[in-house]
Amino acid sequence: MNNLPNCPKCNSEYVYEDGVLLVCPECAYEWDPAELAEAEEGTAAVDANGNKLTDGDTVTLIKDLKVKGAPKDLKQGTRVKNIRIVEGDHNIDCKIDGFGAMKLKSEFVKKI
Ligand SMILES: [Zn+2]
Repeated sequence: MNNLPNCPKCNSEYVYEDGVLLVCPECAYEWDPAELAEAEEGTAAVDANGNKLTDGDTVTLIKDLKVKGAPKDLKQGTRVKNIRIVEGDHNIDCKIDGFGAMKLKSEFVKKI
């Protein structure tokens, strides 16, 4: 019974377990499957520059954003503290002074 994943580097199916690590005998790549799973499913939120965003990061807006129901736009350069990465199209959950809780798209922000 072998339900180990194929090697992420060379796609070999002869992967074996070595403690908590998985090892590929063909290209000698070793990795922690738990870490890999986390990186994959976790929320792949990246900012406008392609930097990975994580919970608690502070970002700034790279453009003015219209906010449904709000009397004014969110201005470019607005600082957003303590973001939370969530699933979905708008993958940042945050609170912005004067606007309250809202969701943003990570492509419109830049990590500080
Ligand atoms: Zn390999």
